[in-house]
Amino acid sequence: MLNDPWFTVREIDNKTYAISELGHWERVHSFLLIGDTKAALIDTGLGIDNMKRITDQLTNLPINVITTHVHADHIGSHGEYDRLFVHEAERDWLVHGIVGLPLEQMRQNIARDITIPVPESFDPSTYKPFQGEPTGLLKDGDRVELGNRTLVIYHTPGHSPGHIAIFDEEKGYLFTGDLLYDETPIYAFYPTTNPVDLVNSLEKINKIPHISMIYGSHNTLGLTPEILDEVKYAVEYLRKNGFARFGTGVHYFKGFSVQF
Ligand SMILES: [Zn+2]
Ligand SMILES: [Zn+2]
Repeated sequence: MLNDPWFTVREIDNKTYAISELGHWERVHSFLLIGDTKAALIDTGLGIDNMKRITDQLTNLPINVITTHVHADHIGSHGEYDRLFVHEAERDWLVHGIVGLPLEQMRQNIARDITIPVPESFDPSTYKPFQGEPTGLLKDGDRVELGNRTLVIYHTPGHSPGHIAIFDEEKGYLFTGDLLYDETPIYAFYPTTNPVDLVNSLEKINKIPHISMIYGSHNTLGLTPEILDEVKYAVEYLRKNGFARFGTGVHYFKGFSVQF
């Protein structure tokens, strides 16, 4: 497999790759999905290094970038690609940035706890998340055709208003972004998040049939679908106890946790 100083590339199958940034505390994963006529890149990472260097080595097909949500750690290399797609509810964030999110704090977050050398081109003091006009907008139920491979878009707000999960119908992979991952809490405790929406979104992904694997955007690469039984329990537990609101803290479940 491809060796790179910054990105860790792992083959999920011969048409699906995880491109991970394991030298950074956020342990972010982006995903390249290759069809017969097009490829999709789910998110573009932190922006510490240029992801296009990697995708150029993995495919010659045109790449549609599909944004799970417009947080800085998911749009880092957006500026390197021509075809950008985002949910309609986060179009304005992509174009203008997230209102009220201090750049200084973002720069501290991006620059801390990095355990491997960063490229010389990376300067945290001038780091600025991508801003630009998307090529197209996504909404719930959209189907993205890659040629013998279809991706279905699920609007899953809560962590952010235009967050989406992406389901690969042929393979059964569900890409959950920051809606579901393990080890560190799933966040819905600051003003642009919505705890009630997050619980509804967890319930929504649980109804998708024939999921073979779940790929969140952080921490462990690939979770088995058994975690969905615990997600179902979590949805009921959080609702029954009235915990789906700001300030109720971290709620721990088997294999994941959520913070409101
Ligand atoms: Zn996020
Ligand atoms: Zn994230």
